[in-house]
Amino acid sequence: MAVAKVIVDLALDKEFDYLIPEHLADRIKVGTMVSVPFGRSRREGYVLSLAEHPDYEGRLKPISAICETRAHVPEQLVKLGRWMAEYYCCSQEQSIRTLLPAAVRSGRIRHKIRRLYRIADVEAAQRFIAGNSEKPGAALRVALLKALLAHGAKSSDGLKALTASFSQSALRTLIRHKIVETVDEIVRRDVFGDSTVLPSKPLPPSPDQRKALELIADMLRGKSASHVLLLHGVTNSGKTEVYLQAIADALSLGKSAIVLVPEISLTPQTVRRFRARFGDRLSILHSRLSDGERFDEWNRINDGEVAIAVGARSALFAPFRNLGLIIVDEEHESSYKQSEAPRYSARDVAVMRGKLENAAVILGSATPSAESVRNAATGKFLLARMASQVDNKLAPHIRIIDQRLAGPPEPGRSNVFSKPLVDAVFDRMNRGEQSILFLNRRGYARVMICEECGFEARCPDCSVAYTYSKLHETLTCHLCGGVIEAYSVCPQCGSPRIRYAGVGTEKIESIAGAVFKPARIARMDSDTMRGADDYETVLEKFRRGELDILIGTQMIAKGLHFPNVTLVGLINADLGLAMPDFRAPERTFQLITQVAGRAGRGDIRGEVFIQTGNPENETIRYAANLDFDGFSKFDLEFRELLDYPPFSHLIAVHFRGEDETRLVDYATAFTAELQRYAHDQIKLAGPSPAPIERIKGKFRYMLIIRGRKLRILRQALRVLVLHRTPPAGIEVYADVDAQSLL
Ligand code: ADP
Ligand code: ZN
Ligand code: ZN
Repeated sequence: MAVAKVIVDLALDKEFDYLIPEHLADRIKVGTMVSVPFGRSRREGYVLSLAEHPDYEGRLKPISAICETRAHVPEQLVKLGRWMAEYYCCSQEQSIRTLLPAAVRSGRIRHKIRRLYRIADVEAAQRFIAGNSEKPGAALRVALLKALLAHGAKSSDGLKALTASFSQSALRTLIRHKIVETVDEIVRRDVFGDSTVLPSKPLPPSPDQRKALELIADMLRGKSASHVLLLHGVTNSGKTEVYLQAIADALSLGKSAIVLVPEISLTPQTVRRFRARFGDRLSILHSRLSDGERFDEWNRINDGEVAIAVGARSALFAPFRNLGLIIVDEEHESSYKQSEAPRYSARDVAVMRGKLENAAVILGSATPSAESVRNAATGKFLLARMASQVDNKLAPHIRIIDQRLAGPPEPGRSNVFSKPLVDAVFDRMNRGEQSILFLNRRGYARVMICEECGFEARCPDCSVAYTYSKLHETLTCHLCGGVIEAYSVCPQCGSPRIRYAGVGTEKIESIAGAVFKPARIARMDSDTMRGADDYETVLEKFRRGELDILIGTQMIAKGLHFPNVTLVGLINADLGLAMPDFRAPERTFQLITQVAGRAGRGDIRGEVFIQTGNPENETIRYAANLDFDGFSKFDLEFRELLDYPPFSHLIAVHFRGEDETRLVDYATAFTAELQRYAHDQIKLAGPSPAPIERIKGKFRYMLIIRGRKLRILRQALRVLVLHRTPPAGIEVYADVDAQSLL
């Protein structure tokens, strides 16, 4: 008896046994999409595994049919999906879903078809031409046949171009007489358009690059102790060139490659670099693809028409059959963690996919995560370092400026910019160079405070202060998007003495306008960059030198390459350190390093000013000294002391609901039940209110699980989260290896 275990397309976490009918036996594989009887109806589902004998004891129903026109999940990915469901405590169904893009899964998108015409019977065609070439009534048909004989299969547009007087009815007559026939050809939607890219050749590697490439060559040939390499190289040290040559090596072995980059780095420049080396053997998977394009790209990969996929997180599931290499660039980026179910980390799943499919994995970063540094230190990963920039350029000169020394501002003045920074910006303007001013605004934008009674304007649905926008005279909640008109008098005491405290990019921009007159200034943050083109427009202006100063948030921290920028100022560099999260120092270090890297990309050495009210802080000092190793040692010691990852695993269980009492009751009972599966190496903390206590009117509680040997606990947690229905109005989910603890 042959049995298939099928996951039915419902939000269930359960497999059902079905008999495989004789006539389908050799076509049903793991990952095949089938239609099955389910209760009184018929459902579609995916085969997750095959077995000799059923686990179900009742009478089995047979699979009705294979869904012929629908995409099937490649067998090797099904295994990965099962692991994800177990590890990340999500349902099998949610996990299988992420393996196929929605455009492919839905079955609604079809191949784009082009109809071609070709000669069906060469002799008949030649006879027709010979017998009719003098007859004016047959001239159109003769012309068509001549064109098709000379040029092979053609579309009707092609024929129109080839014949002086094209006629559809003449064509139909020829088809009716079986002299011409039609063929349908699949055409891929063209994502590159007509844009062409000049090809590039591999550059002779530097000694550091050669070392990295040798390690990779061994990994690709299965000759090394680990299948993962941490490529730790400063910005501009030539990591991307290593990726390109590693991919070429994988291709030479007949294998394919996946390159993951953070969505924000998937810029036209990046795409051009890959296309220049690999031409159209490349598929680019970005978020702006239409459903049709996404469908086609998936099929191009699935049918082996391309060998390389470059894309954000979900490109990890590109359906290659002979995967040789996965590259995760900027492996420390928290955007690799998906914030909805399944809450997987693309970096960690990449390591697992590499293991399951015997593919090498390269994790690249200038500021690798504590997790990867630790894995390299214990020998779980190989390590290659590239400490200097390709052209041996000097790293920027970094100064810490104590913002407190400025003292309280004079009335009507501001001390947002310190004197040295102001002088430095003017200096650049006089020399025709450019400056970037960076502010990590998150949560520190201006809030409305009443000077009379101390009232602070807060969103009634979320437990955070409203952010004030001077431009719109509004108060906005950044969590739920709620907007109200700014108060002119205090809603609590009626006083007009309203003050706006804190500094956001918008305020910085208006102060900069006054301080740096007559500078040409632009601001980039999620408030000003609404449309898809806004970003490119501002950057283009900046590139052409039509702006002196660019002000922005995280959005401008990454990857921008402007040789004329010789000064970067970080305002309130320590703000991120105040976040209630054990990764705050790591994030701050990464951010300062990244932002500092925007200065001095050209011939002139860059200068960076870090303004902070916290100049003694270790993280800021290490960052200013560009001392990654010093910081990493400091950070790892702190984490080891407090038993945080990577020295333990961390799972956050979130509870949400509008009725706080019932929510706490449920979370407490849940925790007590889970506690029974814990042992002395596991700590459960909570349930307690999350740092952001309410969002959109829902209370948020969190249980933090930390420890080692979590297997049994994880299984129990999975059952509690997925198979236990909480009381109405309460939601529960687990976030395994949580990146955000807010
Ligand atoms: P990263 O990815 O580490 O920032 P890149 O690979 O982008 O570094 O390299 C930075 C610059 O140096 C690029 O312009 C690249 O073309 C150039 N480059 C990289 N490797 C070499 C090499 N071996 N010889 C000459 N130029 C190189
Ligand atoms: Zn809100
Ligand atoms: Zn008041």
